[in-house]
Amino acid sequence: MLLWEHPPYRPPSEAYSVLIRVTRGCTWNKCAFCNMYKTIRFERRNLQEILDDIVTASLYCKNYTTLFIGDSNSLVLPTEDLIKILDTIYANFPHMKRVTSYARAKTIAKRKTIEELKELHRHGLSRLHIGLETGDDELLKVISKGATAADMIEGGKKVVASGISLCFYVMPGLGGKEYSAQHVRGTAYVLNQVNPDFIRIRTFQPIPGTPIWDMIQAGKITLLSPEETLQEEYELIRRLECTSNYVSDHMLNYPVWDNGPRQLDGKLPDDKEKMLRLIENTIKEINENPSVKEYYEKHRQMREFRGKTGTL
Ligand code: SF4
Repeated sequence: MLLWEHPPYRPPSEAYSVLIRVTRGCTWNKCAFCNMYKTIRFERRNLQEILDDIVTASLYCKNYTTLFIGDSNSLVLPTEDLIKILDTIYANFPHMKRVTSYARAKTIAKRKTIEELKELHRHGLSRLHIGLETGDDELLKVISKGATAADMIEGGKKVVASGISLCFYVMPGLGGKEYSAQHVRGTAYVLNQVNPDFIRIRTFQPIPGTPIWDMIQAGKITLLSPEETLQEEYELIRRLECTSNYVSDHMLNYPVWDNGPRQLDGKLPDDKEKMLRLIENTIKEINENPSVKEYYEKHRQMREFRGKTGTL
């Protein structure tokens, strides 16, 4: 039995964090690839119940140093409510060092000022996790993201200017072969404009029942092979001129091959050339070494299985 209400999802980097739910579901809930909150009607939780949950959590997790607030777009709450939530967290967790949340770039672009974000940062909001997915306007429409590249840039720049750490999530392979070139160009453009602290990679895998699954079945989007996905990442990294940390921290992402599989991570621009060489070598290994090719094919099949069973 849970003693306080938890958000159903959190980033992998929050695996050891206290989880506090401040809203239920997603304010938008229409992205064509996403099934996360489809069965949940969006609701803001009662503020006093949230504050009570924080106190209860602190009784069991007093020494925790990180905390994540969910669900998908906590910044839709009024700034004064968020400040009360943050103040209650820091008052009850004496060792708290980092409080993070998911957010939508459009909500920040249209509904929060830089001053409000700075105020939230002063009260201890450390990082926002935002799904960019792609920076290409046509593909953003195809996936019904409900935001344009300009919204992503505006929202992202506000977060960076406020001092809150920004993590933008990018989906290699999202537009399949049909949109690959423009997906790379648009995404690199937005990332270079915003310069987020983190670029996190979440390689696209379709889930049955989502609109993008139907587009793929109808032949409108052709999925990329492992080599093509890695080539798309190569083209993206090649265009990046930002100073972000590039992090590929999800088991479904294709690893690079460096005498065996390993996560592709690096600090830009210092590690850019090293990362590009690693991807080049990986594609070469896949093409020339049958056992490496077999490894990537098995990884592709595992991704497909996880997509079909909705366990991404
Ligand atoms: S991707 Fe994010 S914004 Fe889009 S429906 Fe899913 S949770 Fe909501």
